Amino acid sequence: MIARVQPLTRTRAVRGPFDYRLAPGQAEVGVGSLLRIPFGGRRTLGVVVELAERSAVAPERLVEPEAVMSADIPAELVALANWMAQEYCSTPARALGLVLAPGATVGIGARRVLVAELTQEGSAALSSGARLNERQRTTLERLSREGATVAAELGTPGLRRLQARGLVALRSQTRRRRPVRHAVGSASATAPPLTADQQRALVPVLEALAAERGPGTSSGFLLDGVTGSGKTEIYLRAVQATLAAGRSAIVLVPEIALTPQALSRFEARFGEVVAVIHSALGQGQRYDEWARLRSGEARVCVGPRSAVFAPVSDLGLIVVDEEHESSYKHEGDPRYDARSVAERRTRDHGAVLLLGSATPRPESALSMTRLTLRRRIDHRPMPVVEVLDMRGHHHPLHPQSALALADLRRSGGKAIVLLNRRGWSNFLSCHACGHVWVCPNCDVALVLHRSGSLVACHHCGHREPVPGRCGVCASVSVARHGAGTERIEHELREALGDARFPIFRLDADSAALSDRAGTLQRFGATRAGVLVGTQMVAKGHDFPDVSLGIVVDADQTLRFPDFRAEERTFALVTQLAGRTGRGERSGRVLVQTQAPQARSISFASRHDSDGFIADELTRRRALSYPPFASLIRVVCSAAEEALARSTATALQAEIAPPGAAVLGPAPLFRLRGRARSQLVVKAIDRAAAIRAVGEAVDRIAPPAAKRGVSVSVDVDPQ
Ligand code: ADP
Ligand code: ZN
Ligand code: ZN
Repeated sequence: MIARVQPLTRTRAVRGPFDYRLAPGQAEVGVGSLLRIPFGGRRTLGVVVELAERSAVAPERLVEPEAVMSADIPAELVALANWMAQEYCSTPARALGLVLAPGATVGIGARRVLVAELTQEGSAALSSGARLNERQRTTLERLSREGATVAAELGTPGLRRLQARGLVALRSQTRRRRPVRHAVGSASATAPPLTADQQRALVPVLEALAAERGPGTSSGFLLDGVTGSGKTEIYLRAVQATLAAGRSAIVLVPEIALTPQALSRFEARFGEVVAVIHSALGQGQRYDEWARLRSGEARVCVGPRSAVFAPVSDLGLIVVDEEHESSYKHEGDPRYDARSVAERRTRDHGAVLLLGSATPRPESALSMTRLTLRRRIDHRPMPVVEVLDMRGHHHPLHPQSALALADLRRSGGKAIVLLNRRGWSNFLSCHACGHVWVCPNCDVALVLHRSGSLVACHHCGHREPVPGRCGVCASVSVARHGAGTERIEHELREALGDARFPIFRLDADSAALSDRAGTLQRFGATRAGVLVGTQMVAKGHDFPDVSLGIVVDADQTLRFPDFRAEERTFALVTQLAGRTGRGERSGRVLVQTQAPQARSISFASRHDSDGFIADELTRRRALSYPPFASLIRVVCSAAEEALARSTATALQAEIAPPGAAVLGPAPLFRLRGRARSQLVVKAIDRAAAIRAVGEAVDRIAPPAAKRGVSVSVDVDPQ
């Protein structure tokens, strides 16, 4: 038998699969098997993508795999990886790397432990008063009382002697490393009766789950529900129906570390059949959760975007919560979008795709069956949103915002203040000559972080001490411009903070990932206070008593030169409004902006997501932006600008998709010491454009790599 194997190498120039002859003892090898193979004078891992009777390679040149590894992947995921390799202009090896068991390439596997059990002879020896010393008697008694026990706990050498006498049996067993279950908290194991609105939204989903559908057909739903409208309960019911039908479900969430509530609700409802896979787990735990899914022991996988590759059997449903989140897009190669992969995977299985958000993407609204939840469960009104014009104001907080915070301190409530910018001030300049401090590796300004007394680059991590004098003119007068979360936190603490009204900060600087959850818990537990932070503070948390939300600089996302700028701004304001006014007090949101007329802000202030989506779709249709066209971004980077540009120009000449425009090359700012040049392909015929770009990159990239130019392709850039 011949196995066609794709070696797991990063190089684009290596294009498998390659044929290997299976040894007589390797009969169990199938599509998805992970093998250790000799390859080009080295040994590497490879995945079997096909089996064949014979090979075009001469028999004497065929070699055998060295070993068959235990963590094989389902054949279905091999097919999915092949599709991803094409869809994202990557290579099969890189795509396969994403669907492997966690840690498979570094030798992580199941943990085996030796377990001891009492034999019949052993029980007899206990009751008949056989010759046993004190320690042996205690050991046998414990085994008789507690059943099978890990040998190491009782002393393996002693057990071996008992085994030799036939009193104890030892066997090796897989021992799962289970992640800590989340504190269940308010999550309840019993389902509440659905509201009429929920009932209405759920019916079509249940009907789709019940319908017999073959591969190649799927149904997709968009659950468009305001924050607090009870979307999670719909997900739970859909998962329940999937399990009842004997199938499996995947639930994607944007960030588990920050929103453990969602996870604990699934664990509380379904118990042991829930597996979680996320980056805060140890590799061994991740492997074991993966193995529980692979064996069918677990049938619900909850996790971030990579959970879309969970090796579940008989997939019936994929849920994508907060489907508007950009974290569903992967930034490594292949730059896959978990939402598109989910769509593909549900289609392959005749399964159901359920996306949910309070701020859905226009593309989802266009292509999916829309289910709406217009009211909050508790019928609390949506918060009042007021737009504050920042033109002519120099202080980062508008006087009205400062007033509202001072009021809140008097009355003892909670506020969230959102500013999507870390640090103290955005940039430093010399008062005398205007020199701006920039990163030596990237063409961007350095950001002042007062707490560490340093200036830092937010792109490459470069940091240096705060400058005392200008390197150009030696002036000691350094001006600080703009405000970041650190400065807002400091100012609020000076003005308002005390033991009764604490100020918390949450951003990538403030704490390690695990401590961020702690900050959120402390803010949740305090009676009054303020949480200042980047967009992290607007993500899916449910604090019942926040009555004031402030967006410090709504233009920060608007200024971004991107066709999604309006969409992002709308989502940011709406999501913050969603965190506000969930309890006794009614909510109020203040949006500070230099552009009070911006469409996204005025739609958000009216809570008009239908209006925003309709308007956005009209604009995108007129400008041929997604979802009415597909974008593909190609970036060439090199130490020298000329090399990056000439490679981009060469690529542009090679890419000739029918009916598509290739815009560029346009220079991008230098990043991590590399000059960059970008092409953007805008195409109506997506498949043809992807093919054209993929072929051109395959021709140009390997020789370019020899000259130190790297080429990266981003299909559907975010
Ligand atoms: P969303 O995900 O839409 O923001 P959630 O699913 O978090 O909203 O629901 C908001 C709150 O309402 C949660 O505390 C949830 O437990 C509660 N809830 C949801 N459905 C019901 C129901 N049918 N009856 C009572 N409470 C519900
Ligand atoms: Zn100067
Ligand atoms: Zn930098």
